[in-house]
Amino acid sequence: MNNYGPLSTNIMPSKISIAATRKAESVGQTVVIQGWVRTRRDSKGGFSFIELNDGSCFGNIQVIAEAALPNYESEVKKLTVGSSVRVEGEVRASPGKGQATEVLAKNILVYGIADAEAYPLQKKGHSFEFLRTIAHLRPRTNTFGAIARVRNCVCNSIHQYFQEEGFLYLHTPIITASDCEGAGAMFQVTTLPLDKLPTDGAKIDYHLDFFNRPSYLTVSGQLEGETYACGVGKIYTFGPTFRAENSNTPRHLAEFWMVEPEAAFNDIFDNMDLAQGLLKRIFRDVLEKCPEDMQFFSERIDKTVLETLNHILESEFLHVSYTEAIAILEKSGEKFEFPVAWGSDLQSEHERFLTEKHFKCPVILYDYPRTIKPFYMRLNDDEKTVRAMDVLVPKVGEIIGGSQREERLDVLETRMAEQKLNPADYWWYTDLRRYGTVPHAGFGLGVERVLLFITGMANIRDVIPFPRTPGNADF
Ligand code: ATP
Ligand code: MN
Repeated sequence: MNNYGPLSTNIMPSKISIAATRKAESVGQTVVIQGWVRTRRDSKGGFSFIELNDGSCFGNIQVIAEAALPNYESEVKKLTVGSSVRVEGEVRASPGKGQATEVLAKNILVYGIADAEAYPLQKKGHSFEFLRTIAHLRPRTNTFGAIARVRNCVCNSIHQYFQEEGFLYLHTPIITASDCEGAGAMFQVTTLPLDKLPTDGAKIDYHLDFFNRPSYLTVSGQLEGETYACGVGKIYTFGPTFRAENSNTPRHLAEFWMVEPEAAFNDIFDNMDLAQGLLKRIFRDVLEKCPEDMQFFSERIDKTVLETLNHILESEFLHVSYTEAIAILEKSGEKFEFPVAWGSDLQSEHERFLTEKHFKCPVILYDYPRTIKPFYMRLNDDEKTVRAMDVLVPKVGEIIGGSQREERLDVLETRMAEQKLNPADYWWYTDLRRYGTVPHAGFGLGVERVLLFITGMANIRDVIPFPRTPGNADF
């Protein structure tokens, strides 16, 4: 029994989603649908049209409520935008344009009214900035409903792709004592009383901390991922990742979701193929499974998204070495804010010039200078470059960063010394090279960067439900 009383028939009609009700096959069925009112329109003929949405799909279902309903005057005619209802009714073919079906209500139960004066989404057309301040209500808008469904589709594709390719889903720790790149800004995890830190002379005494040593939220599961790849072959991690860099850009979050495959016996070109295969699989699935949402993004957010994704599905990603890319940038005649020179890292303006203006498609840049990349990337025979690869796409820039890993113990140790890292801190990592070392490669894909690219949304804060950025963890 629920608290809302019996339905009008003895045979319980099925509770179904609005997505299912919108399909022509449902015509003739008696159904129960539940959701939030998007609009209510009262007709002169003594009945009302209610547009209902439950998040199961982009479109609403039109409910026809006739005056004969016992609560028509007392409740139905008072339904406001945002109110929640249960409707039992019969699905009919709709004479209206743009919808196959509608529901003729036999019974409408009001779960909750949304006060029209106070409800922030009473009116449409709020800015994304404003909607960030009501992150608890924005899932009820067209845009955020569409993003939630596309995000779900992307995550599902990621799992399916790797599972079909024989990768094991691996859970690497969120709390770690190793700083993956020796550089990433990390959030510290501690149970020490911050207002009264125990000191050992001048230094904080970490023996009194929970883990007996300083520990942090992970910036990457790669190093731990490598241990399993070098034992069970192919793995991927998929989880939250934390970076404390104070970068207030439309492409950085302090907490984001990263997918990190790692495969034993893969070289950098296998790694490129894996990255291309993954991205194409994600794009194909989104176009196939979320057509209404994608149509919305192309009409209201960015006119180019459908064309761009379809074009990518038909083409091969370009492979361009860092050295070739520098030559292209130097010859471009373009005025960049940051100078271009072999040996310095590419800035986002350079990456965007390459993908948007020069190649006009995704590009995989590889073989970067050893001086600008982490110690674990495999040194090339030229001794100047390492087997790094970044996948760059128009508008977003880098969405994947990866490499073939250094599997030779002596070279790895030289590189660690070069970057002033203490091999003792990485004893387990170097052990992988000591006992049965194998060539291997992997990469990290930022889920929110992919979502920016797919949807055409301009700010990364709008493609994650609850964005964490400098100064903001409000919701
Ligand atoms: P960037 O140079 O764009 O700051 P990065 O080179 O520091 O990124 P990697 O360490 O290579 O990033 O991480 C792998 C992937 O994770 C990136 O290609 C990107 O898709 C994603 N990523 C990295 N940092 C962030 C962040 N702060 N917010 C959202 N996604 C991120
Ligand atoms: Mn990177």
